[in-house]
Amino acid sequence: MSFVANSTSFAAPDTYFGIYNELSKYNVHLNVFERLWASWYAFMQNDILATGIMSFAMHEFVYFGRSLPWLIISKIPYFHKYKIQGQKIPTAAEQWNCTKYVLLSHFTVELPQIWLFHPMARYCGMETGVPFPPLTTILFQICVFFVLEDAWHYWFHRALHWGPLYKNIHKIHHTYSAPFGLAAEYASPIEIMLLGLGTVGVPILWVLVTGNLHILTMYLWIVGRLFQAIDAHSGYEFPWSLHHFLPFWAGADHHDTHHERFIGNYASSFRFWDYVMDTESGPEAAKKRRERKDAKEASKKLQ
Ligand SMILES: [Zn+2]
Ligand SMILES: [Zn+2]
Repeated sequence: MSFVANSTSFAAPDTYFGIYNELSKYNVHLNVFERLWASWYAFMQNDILATGIMSFAMHEFVYFGRSLPWLIISKIPYFHKYKIQGQKIPTAAEQWNCTKYVLLSHFTVELPQIWLFHPMARYCGMETGVPFPPLTTILFQICVFFVLEDAWHYWFHRALHWGPLYKNIHKIHHTYSAPFGLAAEYASPIEIMLLGLGTVGVPILWVLVTGNLHILTMYLWIVGRLFQAIDAHSGYEFPWSLHHFLPFWAGADHHDTHHERFIGNYASSFRFWDYVMDTESGPEAAKKRRERKDAKEASKKLQ
């Protein structure tokens, strides 16, 4: 994308908002977000840097921005009654240590990879220009990504609980048996890459098969997935939590039990994989399993 100066001014505006104003004059059909987007690429004059900086900034902003309300909630006694694991409120030192580790991993493991993102996206045929795709297309694709990534996460997370992989890789993520928002990405770099491959690989597979994906949709999907991961680690269960309205949604109720018991509830966003594969965790699931076993034995005796 390049900015073309009009004939009356020889120098193109050199500030971001200068470009925005100039671009708006000739692109009245674009909405505000599309103009902001196009101006950013025109301002940067380097698509790899433009995408790289935007991706990294977005990740940091969303990760810490979404974790902050959970940090504040942990300091307000009123909310303690909604804490899933009773009085296990994370200390300030625990949260700070976790933040330092996550920041280190973002800058050393994720930052270099984010730089490769634009060339890879273009190579696979992802759209990066304006106008954006219709909202219905964006929402539909994000729903598909949630379902497919959940399958990836279920199997690889389950595999990470196999002895040697658990000991060498996944144990770090289980440092906190009562998780909190910031702990969502507290994990070994190998785990981040393995499970992150589902988050990034699913949209790539999608664009390779369908040839239809905008990089904005990919961003919004990652924002959604970050919200999901942070909320699942929040440690809080409310009467208004999403899974009460969407019974197949996993949420904190599902993943907190995984951290507490170290076994079962391996999926990320939904409950159906654990239900179908009989890996649900917690006392209720154990009771149901026992009842099923007793019923089976009773019917065997009758035969
Ligand atoms: Zn685990
Ligand atoms: Zn976790």
